[in-house]
Amino acid sequence: MNQTSYVGRFAPSPSGPLHMGSLVTALGSFLQAKVNNGKWLLRIDDIDPPRIQAGAIENIQATLIAHGLLWDSDAIFQSQNKLNYDTILSQLHSQNLLYPCECTRGQIKAKGEFYTGTCRDKAQVKPPFSLRIKNQFEISQINDRRLGTLKVNNQATQEDFIVKRKDGLYAYHLASVADDIQMGITEIVRGEDLITATACQWALFKTLGKPVPGCLHLPLVTFSDGRKFSKQNHAPSLDLDRPAKNLTEALAYLNLTLPKALQSNQQVDKILAWATQAWADSLS
Ligand code: GLU
Repeated sequence: MNQTSYVGRFAPSPSGPLHMGSLVTALGSFLQAKVNNGKWLLRIDDIDPPRIQAGAIENIQATLIAHGLLWDSDAIFQSQNKLNYDTILSQLHSQNLLYPCECTRGQIKAKGEFYTGTCRDKAQVKPPFSLRIKNQFEISQINDRRLGTLKVNNQATQEDFIVKRKDGLYAYHLASVADDIQMGITEIVRGEDLITATACQWALFKTLGKPVPGCLHLPLVTFSDGRKFSKQNHAPSLDLDRPAKNLTEALAYLNLTLPKALQSNQQVDKILAWATQAWADSLS
């Protein structure tokens, strides 16, 4: 990869304030962009209005700034990119790769874990329906920059996944891939919980005839009982009065131990400068 053309991103959903798990993802993707002399973009995944929490967007931006994680260019908002999603849907439609599906979650579950294409050849379906993609790909492995070759469940990746939901909202895979293409993302850095999602999205990049970006998945932060830190699980939000301490903890999740002298240093820039070098060394 041409070192100067690297474009990475952090794409939080504004469903609440950032927690340690999101800080690890923000920091890992930031460091990876810096190591590659690239750009680090911020995309706010505000595509699902019922999940948006009032004040979360401002809070996310303030949190990143407090931790010295300054994004390049203006933040991108998925809520403003609907035209882009419609363009991609039109492309898929003209390739005859979309079909309406009336199945409920319960009906799908009754048949097994994955959707088996029940509505693919139906002459007529009743509204409300979702739109699914006729998935041409069955990805069984992906190459992760940190973890090497990862096997993925090819039953999951060959599924005809939803691109537009019954409620009219654009589905996550569609919106994410459409934006990653438009933003020129060359490598996606995200949490390990999204490995299967990455593989499904590879299928969409390929269907659209676009180059597939690289990927790097980061360790998850969990509670002591193993549950992943998430907004739904009420993971504690970050204390903005102690950014250096938060960064030290986030670095530990990335297997980097900040030297003692820097731990008490309140200058996040110095911490980030050390971390960029340490991250480069850890990946080489
Ligand atoms: N916005 C989603 C999240 O916060 C997706 C992130 C991504 O696509 O990397 O989990």
